Amino acid sequence: MNKMTVENVEVNSKKVVVRVDFNVPVNKGQVTNDKRIRAALPTIEYLTGQGARVILISHLGRPKGEFRPEMSLKPCAAVLEKMLGRPVQFVENCVGEIAEQAVETMQDGQVILLENLRFHDGETKNDSEFAASLAGLGQLYVNDAFGTAHRAHASTVGICQYIQPCVAGYLMQKEIQYLGNVVQNAERPFVAIIGGAKISGKMDVMANLLGKVDNLLIGGAMAFTFLKARSINVGRSMIEEDKISLAARLIESWPEKIALPVDCVVTDKLDPAEQVLGALETVRVEAIGPSQIGVDIGPETIALFSGILEGARTVVWNGPMGVFEIDAAAEGTMAVARMLADITGRGAVTVIGGGDSAAAAEKAKVADRLSHVSTGGGASLAFLEGKRLPAIEALTDLGT
Ligand code: ADP
Ligand code: MG
Repeated sequence: MNKMTVENVEVNSKKVVVRVDFNVPVNKGQVTNDKRIRAALPTIEYLTGQGARVILISHLGRPKGEFRPEMSLKPCAAVLEKMLGRPVQFVENCVGEIAEQAVETMQDGQVILLENLRFHDGETKNDSEFAASLAGLGQLYVNDAFGTAHRAHASTVGICQYIQPCVAGYLMQKEIQYLGNVVQNAERPFVAIIGGAKISGKMDVMANLLGKVDNLLIGGAMAFTFLKARSINVGRSMIEEDKISLAARLIESWPEKIALPVDCVVTDKLDPAEQVLGALETVRVEAIGPSQIGVDIGPETIALFSGILEGARTVVWNGPMGVFEIDAAAEGTMAVARMLADITGRGAVTVIGGGDSAAAAEKAKVADRLSHVSTGGGASLAFLEGKRLPAIEALTDLGT
């Protein structure tokens, strides 16, 4: 990586503005999943250990520029305090007099967490005045918020105009290393698995990956648009009509690389929101009935995909193989997750991108047996598309 990191700068006694991604689920004032807070610990602990004055900034949810009590970052301060084993002062605004005063009285090694950036609409608008106010709080800037690295906001991009140097934290570094290096310099065989439901959002990812991988395994709802492109009737399975011709072109360009399901689990009733599934049946993909909906890959497909994954040295996985939230339709996803854990144990590098895929890896209880589970959904997809992420671009180059 050609960007400066926390280890390239002197931080002792410095006021350091640290952009973290504490965009966690909160229910009735309680953080219900603290994974993202935990992911920022290495950077925070390093900085406090070096005697820095750590000023944490983050967004939470989409309050659209207004104060919304249920989107306050306050519950995160308590969680972080426990994890760090040291006090974390919560400050009720991220700019203005309250924030400035809180920073003024900080001691070396102290941590404060400022209120949600998105209570100000200058954040998402990348407003320069707002960015300058944030920058004015500190003497240097650390970005450890990979989850928002694909967005040019005031706290991720604008701020870098007003404060130098701007360096990457440990989480940011790790994400760049796995999603960047793995994809650029993958050891072969290199296999990508794409599934899930965001079909149009992932077409560019597939097109980019097809140029690099040895095999692309397609499952989830995604597969039905591709099966349809091969003139297979997919009943009432989820497809995107306007992506069929693009799917057909990808199959035509890379016939030897693309693997599609040969069988699937179908039902005639699916309501994911209500966790409702009708009776299930496993059929060959050519035999999907007109009223049937594919909800998972079948056993023959699991065997086909496992055979390809068996010998893989690098795997990138984005998107579950079925409606894994419902146990009866989770087997394909769980089997793939367990397979990845197995090959990781044998020395393969396995990288998961995407919020639901990360949740699936957790459901399969293999998240800690994979090489890297990305904390960023949209950001990891943008990376896999081969795009440059604005917040990474904005960091200070090494050697400047
Ligand atoms: P990620 O967050 O990992 O990028 P997506 O958001 O694209 O993944 O897709 C995840 C969603 O896809 C899950 O909620 C899952 O229920 C849904 N899904 C997977 N397979 C199917 C299918 N065959 N039909 C309908 N929805 C599906
Ligand atoms: Mg998702």
